[in-house]
Amino acid sequence: MAEKGKDASVVAVFAGMSVDSSSSVCSTTSSEYYLDLEIPEVQEFRANLRIQQANPVPKKTPAQKLAESWRTIEQLKKLDPEEYDEDTTFLCRVSLIDIDCSNGWCYLGCDTCQKSMYGAPRKYKCARCGPIKRPVQWYKLKAKVEDATGTMDLMIFCEVAEELVGVSAEELVDNIEEDDEWYALPDEIEDLLGSTHTFQVFDKYVNGSFAVRSIMDDASVPAPAAAASQCKEKADPEGSQKPSKRLRGDDDSIN
Ligand SMILES: [Zn+2]
Repeated sequence: MAEKGKDASVVAVFAGMSVDSSSSVCSTTSSEYYLDLEIPEVQEFRANLRIQQANPVPKKTPAQKLAESWRTIEQLKKLDPEEYDEDTTFLCRVSLIDIDCSNGWCYLGCDTCQKSMYGAPRKYKCARCGPIKRPVQWYKLKAKVEDATGTMDLMIFCEVAEELVGVSAEELVDNIEEDDEWYALPDEIEDLLGSTHTFQVFDKYVNGSFAVRSIMDDASVPAPAAAASQCKEKADPEGSQKPSKRLRGDDDSIN
């Protein structure tokens, strides 16, 4: 069989197997197997195999995958978490309509891994990295965004938020004089309201709450794939042409 298998497929039929789960079968004392049986089922199987081998499904390029990842807010909300994981990203074009700072707009975190210092062993010790030089202020923006299909909450953290705002959270914190400024939006952040961006979003905990992984450069963002073309149109009503407020960071977004 090993010799024969070098030149052509050997079709094996297993009978009397115990099915443990959808992905596992196991032999039993009554199992039997047949190699290259000349029966119609095997002939048909072999013919289909030849067709498949002659016409392999083309692998998608990263650009194709990106283009197929466009979603409207309505579509993002309807996603079934069973069908993606924490590494799956989606493209959406949305406007920032509100940033809720009732719990603040920044947090003290590790300078290396950005983990919150809340619950850390000591002020200069990250629960994950151990001793650190000094914790830093990172952005945590709880944004409400909108497109033509609806609104949703979107978290924008750390460097991504810094790219949007144009200055670091540390700099804004340095300007704080009154305690209540921790719970009010600095002008630099408030200026973002009304601006429209193409975000690549992901769902870290696969529970339907999305955060921004990166801000896409409108010039290099892929056209939506055919199947998703309607989404782009819906998501982008009068769209990119409108010279909505250009913001610091807009022009040198991640490439
Ligand atoms: Zn850390």
